Amino acid sequence: MKALRIDKEPAYQCQLVDIDEAQFEAELAPEGDVWVDVGYSTINYKDGLAITGKSPVVRKPSLIPGIDLVGRVRQSTHGRWKAGDEVILNGWGVGENHSGGLSQVARVKGDWLIEKPAALSPLQAMAVGTAGYTAMLCVMALQANGVKPEDGEILVTGATGGVGSVAVALLSKAGYQVVAATGKSTEHAFLAELGAASVVARETLSEPGKPLQKERWAGVVDAVGSHTLVNACAATRYGGVVTACGLAQGMDFPASVAPFILRGITLCGIDSVMAPIARREAAWARIAGELDLSQLAALTQVVPLSGAMDAAQAILRGEIRGRVVVDVNA
Ligand code: NDP
Repeated sequence: MKALRIDKEPAYQCQLVDIDEAQFEAELAPEGDVWVDVGYSTINYKDGLAITGKSPVVRKPSLIPGIDLVGRVRQSTHGRWKAGDEVILNGWGVGENHSGGLSQVARVKGDWLIEKPAALSPLQAMAVGTAGYTAMLCVMALQANGVKPEDGEILVTGATGGVGSVAVALLSKAGYQVVAATGKSTEHAFLAELGAASVVARETLSEPGKPLQKERWAGVVDAVGSHTLVNACAATRYGGVVTACGLAQGMDFPASVAPFILRGITLCGIDSVMAPIARREAAWARIAGELDLSQLAALTQVVPLSGAMDAAQAILRGEIRGRVVVDVNA
């Protein structure tokens, strides 16, 4: 089987390897009750960190990266899954503590899997991937907290990235007026095609600002963190809702409590990694029913397994537009 393999000793490295399955089982995937023949994986921001070693994402001396996979069950001793089932895995520490999807074969826990929605092909499921599923978790949190299309503009930060681009597509399809914040001045037309009503330059949000700013946003999907998230909160309208899922600018949150105690805004933390199965299934069912698949195709590029390491470097440089799917069998 072909796979990417990360070894932390003697020096951190990631390489494309040919490995036999017995060695894979013994060295890289000693636990797991389901064997999956992987069709596709993806490159998310976290995969970029793992593959390059830029942040300490990988917790084992050696493993296969890849926080996402779609594939077909080959063999299972888990009660819920049998050979032939088409499954998706997102997160649960896969690609961090346990070998993941950037491989032709995966051995994982059946408790981590969900059924692939029939309306999505395997390639479409990974075009969504963790980034798109997280975008849907953000949309669900906005709606659960009462944000409706008629309430006003929704800000999406990191808008040309994986989370951002799917969030723009989902929100505009649902009737929201989306304002996309991007650092890529060449991608305004792309964002308009996804349904953004207007675009603001990333720089207008990324520097320290006043604790209370002119009220503008009814809701926010933030993939960026740091001053961007603080400024988004500071300009959220009375009673508005901000969803925070990412840290592309930084993990810090140098904020004031003013928007919370004077405007009653709500800040919702979004985690995809340990989200319970019922919430995942609800998110994937909504994605399958609501996402415009021609827009999904427009925001997706497919690379072979041998291209995954270059894509990992590119995503950390902020150069990727939309989603990168990895065809592990190409
Ligand atoms: P991407 O790299 O695809 O998107 C991030 C986008 O953020 C970039 O495309 C860019 O968009 C913008 N950006 C990059 N650098 C900066 C910067 N220094 N300042 C401001 N904006 C910047 O990553 P993903 O969409 O896969 O992930 C986005 C974030 O969400 C990451 O931090 C990731 O770790 C996090 N995440 C969290 C999850 C969770 O469960 N909470 C799940 C999935 C992702 P543009 O050029 O348009 O400005």
